[in-house]
Amino acid sequence: MEKSNPYQVAISQVRNVGRILGLDEGMIEILTKPKREFTVNFPVKMDDGSIKVFTGYRVQHSIARGPCKGGVRYHPGVTLDEVRALSMWMTWKCATVGLPFGGAKGGVICDPKKMSKGELERMTRRFTTEIAPIIGPHEDILAPDVYTDAQTMAWIMDTYSMGAGYSVPGVVTGKPIHLGGSEGREEATSRGVMYCIREAMNVNDIDPQRSTVAIQGFGNVGKNAARLLKDELGARIVAVSDSSGGVHDPAGLDLEALEAHKKATGSVKGFKGARDITNEEVLELECTVLVPAALEGVIDAGNAGKIKARIVAEGANGPTSPEADRILFERGITLVPDILCNAGGVTVSYFEWVQDLQYLFWSAGEIKNRLNQIMTYAFAKVYATARSRNVDMRTAAYILAVQEVVKATKERGIYP
Ligand code: NAD
Repeated sequence: MEKSNPYQVAISQVRNVGRILGLDEGMIEILTKPKREFTVNFPVKMDDGSIKVFTGYRVQHSIARGPCKGGVRYHPGVTLDEVRALSMWMTWKCATVGLPFGGAKGGVICDPKKMSKGELERMTRRFTTEIAPIIGPHEDILAPDVYTDAQTMAWIMDTYSMGAGYSVPGVVTGKPIHLGGSEGREEATSRGVMYCIREAMNVNDIDPQRSTVAIQGFGNVGKNAARLLKDELGARIVAVSDSSGGVHDPAGLDLEALEAHKKATGSVKGFKGARDITNEEVLELECTVLVPAALEGVIDAGNAGKIKARIVAEGANGPTSPEADRILFERGITLVPDILCNAGGVTVSYFEWVQDLQYLFWSAGEIKNRLNQIMTYAFAKVYATARSRNVDMRTAAYILAVQEVVKATKERGIYP
């Protein structure tokens, strides 16, 4: 089945809520069109002496509620429509958890797995310089996403600072701690996912200690979610996968040994004592909780009927199509939507930005407490709205988030 266009999915989600809220067409146009879309083509010297021209994007969806905020993705499949969708989802995500940001996202079309560290550094620095006119700590703050990490953020921060002539830590979040990064940022998205799963289990009367979990994706979000769900909720992780496939062990996977295996072989596949499965099979396994934590568009009308989990917790952005949402809702499966479920990342990014602006840093305990409070409160609000309006949790989260953005837009007025 052809993968759905993420921007079309993002538009249809807003239109759906627009109908429920009775928004007029002008407001829907404002909400579905990114404020600014920046495309850059730039040359990079490769290790073999050749020059390669890369294409990158930075899309700023909304500044209605504050500066723009969003990650940067390095992937061969990056498209402008994907970045548009991701920037929109950031706007709703920040509004869902009450952060004073609008959404943005960036991406570079490249295959980071085939590039050396030097090539990645030169590409990152040039991309940063190309988008420098529209980013900054009060304009648009970047963060890690697929195949970018704390090192990438350090290069962006340094490059931006060289242009400014002084250090500007607040232009990126997800930095190394000694460069102004925050305690707890590395695991923040997964910690938020874990808090949401805890709350979803609570409202569904599920005992975490007797629950099983399947996770698609074993990167920053998937790996940390596996560890936190096991260590802090006592859940059994029965399956995980990465880009080359997955492994299944109903008795529970030894996560430390699995990480060592992936480090040694480059993949989770072939792990001793576990059965190799495909990425599609991971989604359809017998388990209590399914965590898609890789890329968008993996749960659609074709496989939504086959999902056996009672809770789907979206670690990834946009993993579920609108048709699949309807099928899962009709089947009584609790889906915790991305704009709530993975908002822990941007929440601790917000903490990092606040700390950078104040040059005052918080303890790991304080970060966890504040994150727990924000996620628990947001979950309760979205869940209560879903129940009272008899809609799925995504629609409920969108109702709350879109209302916030509409309110800000109306109060500010249409310039001039
Ligand atoms: P990552 O680069 O650390 O990991 C991505 C993982 O996905 C890897 O394990 C990779 O092997 C796997 N993968 C890639 N292609 C795949 C495929 N076709 N099938 C199955 N697995 C595949 O990225 P990440 O930061 O963990 O991001 C994962 C998802 O979470 C993305 O949707 C991202 O937008 C979302 N997200 C990330 C953050 C964050 O703070 N990092 C915050 C919110 C949402």
